[in-house]
Amino acid sequence: QVYADYSATTPVAPRVIEEMMTVYHTAYGNPSSIHKIGREARQIIDQSRRQIAGVLNARPKEILFTSGATESNNTAIKGAAYKNQHLGRHLITTQVEHHSVLHVFEYLEKQGFEVTYLPVDRYGVVQLTDFKAALRPDTILVSIMFGNNEVGAIQPVDDIGELLDGHQALFHVDAVQTAGHLPIDVKELKVDMLSLTAHKFYGPKGVGLLYIKQGTAIEYSQLGGSQETKRRAGTENVPLIKGMAVALTEAADQLDHHNIRLTQLKEYFLHSLQQRTVPFEMNGDKNMQLAHIMNLYFPFSDVELMLTLLDMAGVYVSSGSACTAGSIEPSHVLTAMFGEDPRTKQSIRFSFGHEMTEEQLDYMADQLLKIYEMTKERSGYNG
Ligand code: PLP
Repeated sequence: QVYADYSATTPVAPRVIEEMMTVYHTAYGNPSSIHKIGREARQIIDQSRRQIAGVLNARPKEILFTSGATESNNTAIKGAAYKNQHLGRHLITTQVEHHSVLHVFEYLEKQGFEVTYLPVDRYGVVQLTDFKAALRPDTILVSIMFGNNEVGAIQPVDDIGELLDGHQALFHVDAVQTAGHLPIDVKELKVDMLSLTAHKFYGPKGVGLLYIKQGTAIEYSQLGGSQETKRRAGTENVPLIKGMAVALTEAADQLDHHNIRLTQLKEYFLHSLQQRTVPFEMNGDKNMQLAHIMNLYFPFSDVELMLTLLDMAGVYVSSGSACTAGSIEPSHVLTAMFGEDPRTKQSIRFSFGHEMTEEQLDYMADQLLKIYEMTKERSGYNG
């Protein structure tokens, strides 16, 4: 079988599992307990926080542990909007964000905030001229993803960070797909907040983080105990936090090595498809793309059926983001790139892991060709 859905989630690396198991066995105390067993658990959290801060060039206290990027994005966006509404009620994001960002902005709109959803070009990239035109004195928050989860497009977040220098607006970046693929240095990026989730870089599911620059004013909504310096109440998930720290360190250490391999795999797969004369077009530009994501348009295909048949053949891929898979809604990302176009419903996302093999890609290309031919017949195309 071939798993090519790494941007939906990655398997957990064996070393990460091992380290987490040790924590489960030995450091089972409540980190808030003051006795030795509690203190041992607290030490693991503190050490993990320092390690993660080191990778991101942040200070340990600027790292807030969460249950994943959905929570990080909610905390950042709602927290910034509520806390700073006395300074203005205008917010900026893009049309191609993950739903854990878009749905929060839609919710805020219902509460009287005004939101500008920036368009993208046909490669999925936000234009700085559009951003400059949208920025206003009463803008209080800008939230832009680093790399897109459906097409891999990389946004100019460094330029946007520069442009926001000296402006009152807080800058939040959803960097979920970028971890392990582009270096993330929060100081260099000039961000105020940045979201990550561990299961996209061979860590466990259900744990993530929000970097919050020291001095950034946001409102926190989860009340209770005084965990996470009163920013997020609730007993910490010590093994998962440890797992995230191990996975992020490994991802950063191996970044260049993995990117080289992923680029090879991508090129190999494109070549395999070309050799088999499957007609396709890439959605996006591979020179401005995360190394592990590729989104292809197969003209006249029935993608729903193709995905089902690929699944039966042991090939696991997605159309659009995993959250919208299973519904026949066109992808909002492809719609932002191409408007109303058949390709918004006739595209497949392939996302690669460094441990994949050329043999697997050959098998995937073979199955794709076979299934495409069948699908094509079904939709009455004989070209
Ligand atoms: N942001 C992006 C770009 C994503 O790809 C995802 C996961 O699909 C998320 C946020 C949400 O992450 P999680 O489901 O771990 O909360």
